[in-house]
Amino acid sequence: MKSGMIAAETLFDALSAGDEGGRDLTAYAENFNDSWLYEELYKSRNFGPAMHKFGTILGGAFNFIDQNLFSIPVTLHDDKPDYAEMKLASECPVIEYPKPDGVISFDKSSSVFLSFTNHEENQPCHLKLTDASIPMTSNLQKFAEPAQRFCPAGVYEIVEDDDGSQRFQINSQNCVHCKTCDIKDPAQNITWVTPEGGGGPNYPNM
Ligand code: SF4
Repeated sequence: MKSGMIAAETLFDALSAGDEGGRDLTAYAENFNDSWLYEELYKSRNFGPAMHKFGTILGGAFNFIDQNLFSIPVTLHDDKPDYAEMKLASECPVIEYPKPDGVISFDKSSSVFLSFTNHEENQPCHLKLTDASIPMTSNLQKFAEPAQRFCPAGVYEIVEDDDGSQRFQINSQNCVHCKTCDIKDPAQNITWVTPEGGGGPNYPNM
């Protein structure tokens, strides 16, 4: 939210200064670097890499010291991109999650409903597959098609047709624009592009 506010303020300044098209927004980087958001993100830069490198206990201790006692003057890096860290489905136990109870846990469609996500009808799908065959021919076998699980909005489904055949379905109208699929798909086959008409989540109660 803060980065969006900085973008709006930068645009406002550009328009107020007579840049009617708002084309020169190079001040955004400087405004971002001067904000509390940059400071906060910089302070927590080691959080993920420390957990990945040292494990939950040592990594947690590292982060506690780094964030609460004194700043450790190193910057850790993850060597592998996140999508390349995914384990094969055959190496993982099948987890049977309890059904949402509607009190403290909720199904995905009720949560998507609360986001007031809306996309104009009949627009091209804004979730592009580089190779439309990969979900069924590769991702399904190797990773049990993980997009079904990592997408928080239930956009990706493996559906069964009347003849028993399975296919990959994209319910793009439910997308809440988190871009997880673009980042996490192990085949790097999904590209999120801006949908038409400014559609997307609205979060009216925030
Ligand atoms: S951007 Fe997020 S909500 Fe949209 S399809 Fe990808 S994972 Fe799902």
